[in-house]
Amino acid sequence: MRILLTGSAGLCGSAIQALFADETNKPSTETTLHCSTSSDTDLCNTASTEALFERVQPSHVIHCAARVGGLFKNQREPVEMGRLNLLMQDNIFESCKKHGSRLIIFLSTCIFPDKTSYPINESMLHDGPPHPSNAAYAYSKRFAETMSHAYRSEYSLDSICVIPTNLYGPNDNFELQDAHVIPALIHKAILAKRAGEKLIVAGSGKPLRQFLYSKDLAILILLLLKHYDSSKGPIIISPSPDSEVSIGDVARLIATFTGLGEENIVFDTSKSDGQNKKTADNLKLKSFLAEHAPSFAFTPLEEGLRATCQWMESHFDTCRK
Ligand code: GDP
Repeated sequence: MRILLTGSAGLCGSAIQALFADETNKPSTETTLHCSTSSDTDLCNTASTEALFERVQPSHVIHCAARVGGLFKNQREPVEMGRLNLLMQDNIFESCKKHGSRLIIFLSTCIFPDKTSYPINESMLHDGPPHPSNAAYAYSKRFAETMSHAYRSEYSLDSICVIPTNLYGPNDNFELQDAHVIPALIHKAILAKRAGEKLIVAGSGKPLRQFLYSKDLAILILLLLKHYDSSKGPIIISPSPDSEVSIGDVARLIATFTGLGEENIVFDTSKSDGQNKKTADNLKLKSFLAEHAPSFAFTPLEEGLRATCQWMESHFDTCRK
């Protein structure tokens, strides 16, 4: 395997790189990993994407690069959230077609219909409009799933659409305004502790989320790359539906692990709650794991959160923020 990893410095990409640093995790001894970030290649540009593929000649592509952000970035920059993902995806699909590369591409559980029944499963992706707060991002990612089918039927391209729940871990983007909830709250909690102030949590704290540790996703991606039959369609990567936690509980854990103390939290209900929940089913993943990795276990939220808080504290000056 010659694997091209786009977005290799990001949350998911860096977790995959870290796995490869340990030889025993490589799918085979002949496997090589070729990393790419926005500093070497503009994936929105067709010629530079194709030049990257010419250079690497990948047999497999893990396309982690994407325009992503939390609720508030989606509300502020809907054009970039939609357009840049569409451009990147288009170039990646075309170059994979040309080079015959097996592709893994990422969607998200936040792109499912807003009004739906729970738990959501892979077959419900196009059943109704997404939540208005992230419609442009959601439709750009839904289109990747549509094109995955289209490229398969017209060009026999082998692509897997992976749908993770809310991802978190080291090397995330910790920007105060634009980040997802966990990195934003860790950053805010560390600043609040230093200043002797309160942690302001946006919204009511009541929405529910299923959080996924980036190292777990990286392990599962390598398994899917090797074993998943892509004709079975997209696959949700999620701990079980009963692993949902409220934003308020996550904020309390973060306040504890950063040493701020959970008594120092305030909820700002003038801010949006976004989607109330997006409870995802993991039956397809469970049946895949039963066959290919029966001993796999998700990292408990407390363990992953504690490690991520420690990582942010120790990389405070250099991390993306
Ligand atoms: P989502 O899961 O796609 O909605 O994305 P986020 O990771 O941005 O999570 C949004 C949820 O966390 C909403 O319920 C927000 O009200 C809540 N939240 C609380 N504080 C923050 C914060 O500082 N940043 C973000 N992004 N969300 C926050």
